[in-house]
Amino acid sequence: MDWRDTPEQAAWRSEVRTFLGTELPEEFRRQEVTADELIELRRGGQDGPRVDAFERWRTVLAERGWIAAAWPRAYGGAGMTPVDQFVLNQEFAEARAPQIGGLGVMMLGPTLIAHGTEEQKKRHLGGILRGEIQWCQGYSEPGSGSDLASLQTRAIRDGDDFVINGQKIWTSGAHLSDWCFMLARTDPDAPKHRGITYFLVDMKTPGITVRPLVNMAGAHHFNEVFFEDVRVPLENVVGEINRGWYLGTTTLDFERSSIGASVGQRQAIERYLAWLREGRAEMAPTDYEAVREQWAERWIEVQTATLLAYRVISMQAAGQIPNAEASIAKLYASELGQRVARTAVKTLGLWGGIVDRAAPFNGQAALNYLASVPQTIAGGTSEIQRNIIATRGLGLPRA
Ligand SMILES: Cc1cc2nc3c(=O)[nH]c(=O)nc-3n(C[C@H](O)[C@H](O)[C@H](O)COP(=O)(O)OP(=O)(O)OC[C@H]3O[C@@H](n4cnc5c(N)ncnc54)[C@H](O)[C@@H]3O)c2cc1C
Repeated sequence: MDWRDTPEQAAWRSEVRTFLGTELPEEFRRQEVTADELIELRRGGQDGPRVDAFERWRTVLAERGWIAAAWPRAYGGAGMTPVDQFVLNQEFAEARAPQIGGLGVMMLGPTLIAHGTEEQKKRHLGGILRGEIQWCQGYSEPGSGSDLASLQTRAIRDGDDFVINGQKIWTSGAHLSDWCFMLARTDPDAPKHRGITYFLVDMKTPGITVRPLVNMAGAHHFNEVFFEDVRVPLENVVGEINRGWYLGTTTLDFERSSIGASVGQRQAIERYLAWLREGRAEMAPTDYEAVREQWAERWIEVQTATLLAYRVISMQAAGQIPNAEASIAKLYASELGQRVARTAVKTLGLWGGIVDRAAPFNGQAALNYLASVPQTIAGGTSEIQRNIIATRGLGLPRA
């Protein structure tokens, strides 16, 4: 197997590197920025230089269409092939450069491009492309996560409006979002997949209450969202009424390799290895012996994760649609993230459990450990990924 770039890919990689070398703001090189921080920066937080840096970064990405690299050029994207996106994502991850746009780019935009009215496209795509309008995803409910089609939030037609009542949960960034794309039940008598409609809801509509859920790492990332007699005009229905379930699967030609995750894990491993080379003297010999073996395992595993990512992108390059293969890459990368975090905590001994600047890595090991837990739940749990691999990948009958 030859993993080297073709001359065209090498030229493209070099262009992305040059871009990052000149355009990535200094502020983001010194300190990594999380997706939530980016949204807060966009909404104009307190920290002037970082807000300015975000604005500069947003503008250069938007000018190139790189906020929505996979979208067709006709809709303001860069129309990149999955392979070009792969190189872009790999280089951004290597430089730890923040990507912006989030769910608006990944989920709503493709759905509107495929199923929206001209009016909806005109109204909503520009704000996503410029990284100005933040969208959240109102799908999960307290009783409906993996079995999403059982959702109970109701939308009842009233003249030219629908009136929505119900509750969503785990809504990432709802407290920072301008709009929400959501699913609600419009026909309770139809079979469960056939009575669901896809709505666009302005988060400022009266009757919406957002209540924070603080996760075990102490971060406010997701929320509960309550809908009480929320009126949504008919023009905000995407696609046909009662056919909303079938809209959620539109993804355009997004690269689905999880390459960013494996680059991030390799870099994390390298940081701990560098620390061990210097700080090994602080450890008892038996502890050192144990973690040394674990880091060797993690190093092998991160090579595996990288190869799984290459497998997905090779399929996409050949015009095939990765299905079980993308599930394998997601499952492996997210579970590896947890193993890397666990080995890091063990490496630091008693410091490993302490979230404090006095600890090595400013206490980040303990925080990463806590933050790694939801990775195997978000975007489809590990069990659901294994079900997909078993049925679609291995052809095994359903349970
Ligand atoms: C960080 C994070 C961000 C999220 N952001 C959003 C968001 O923005 N918007 C949104 O709508 N949702 C969001 N979610 C919710 C996420 O989609 C759900 O948590 C996920 O789909 C699982 O659903 P659940 O939590 O209801 O668990 P359940 O579906 O109740 O599952 C509970 C357990 O049962 C297992 N299980 C369920 N069904 C099966 C099965 N058929 N076979 C085997 N095992 C099974 C699961 O794997 C799990 O271990 C987010 C979740 C996380 C962790």
